[in-house]
Amino acid sequence: MLSHRKVLFHFSLIPVTLLRMPREVKLTSESESNIPNPSIPPVFPPEEDHALRPQRMSEMIGQRDVANRLEISIRAAKKRKETLGHILLDGPPGLGKTTFATCIPHELGGVPMYQTNGAILKSPKDIVPYLTNAEERSVLFIDEIHRMQKSVEEFLYTAMEDFRIDLVLGEGVNARTLNIQLKPFTLIGATTRTGLISAPLRDRFQIREHLDFYTMDELAVIVRRSAGKLNIQIEDDAAYEIAYRSRGTPRIANNRLRWVRDYADAKANGVITLSVATEALAMLGIDTLGLDPQDKRFLDTILRVFGGGPVGLETIAHTLNLEPDTLSDEVEPFLLRSELLKRTPKGRCLTEKGFRHLGTNPMDYQTSNTPLIDD
Ligand code: ADP
Repeated sequence: MLSHRKVLFHFSLIPVTLLRMPREVKLTSESESNIPNPSIPPVFPPEEDHALRPQRMSEMIGQRDVANRLEISIRAAKKRKETLGHILLDGPPGLGKTTFATCIPHELGGVPMYQTNGAILKSPKDIVPYLTNAEERSVLFIDEIHRMQKSVEEFLYTAMEDFRIDLVLGEGVNARTLNIQLKPFTLIGATTRTGLISAPLRDRFQIREHLDFYTMDELAVIVRRSAGKLNIQIEDDAAYEIAYRSRGTPRIANNRLRWVRDYADAKANGVITLSVATEALAMLGIDTLGLDPQDKRFLDTILRVFGGGPVGLETIAHTLNLEPDTLSDEVEPFLLRSELLKRTPKGRCLTEKGFRHLGTNPMDYQTSNTPLIDD
């Protein structure tokens, strides 16, 4: 069975020095990864992003249930002087997966954290230095863990379960297996696509948490707090307006705050009032529900080209000249959550609210519904 398979990795072509190579990446909260998250372009310069990112779980707004459960596990692990179980965090981009992952080492008493990204883990040799250099109870954070190659994933099984890896050195009759005992560590995986994580990998995470969109009140607190940290003067109703138009996502709220600050500096006296926020967001093409031009193009295509649906995601992606992953990771979750869109076995359809948001009447499209299915 796959889950019990012993995965050996052949190291005959890898110089032994590589196995002992010095720590490639040692990232603590002071030096976070420079691997960009492709899903939402970072607008903040890294130092501003760092200033805004909470460093302790008590500073995080919202996601209280997740934070409370993690706090219990962390406290228990510390009390028993054990290594915290592996953690899988999933949810749409910008909701705080990396923030949780960077807070956890602090909560564990300042243990080191190493960070990498599934997209660059192409073969087991890419992960070996992280595993062999991990210190006892340190944290290894793999962002976008669903993008890891299958061979890396299988190689991780024994590392996660028994803190051991098996390397094959040499070739043919000279080949021998080297069992390396690792120091117990905590793996934190983050993914926007939990469906792409295989069952054997998923089952090796003792703690699995899903991050959901934030409420308006929570986002308004984040906007006000971020404004405070960046010395921006903002009125309460303006903070609420930015929160309301940020698709339930802290990263978007922070990015939109920054744009509104620029607008306020350029066009007003630097103070963000409700009218300044409204004008600035309108100039970005953000509508009253917080949808950006890409969201609107997605909905508009389903309406104009496919009569409101049902239509497969791949077909929409081809029409928009976008990757289906971009649509399913970044665009769809909030539209589904806002009840503007629904997923049916036959494909994506606009809801009545979706039709009305686009200024049309669903009755006008009732007869032209031709199912277009491809996924
Ligand atoms: P993800 O890893 O899920 O894509 P991040 O953890 O990078 O998202 O979060 C993006 C930004 O949003 C962070 O830099 C931080 O400023 C802000 N943020 C995320 N979650 C919270 C939260 N719970 N409270 C306050 N700010 C948050």
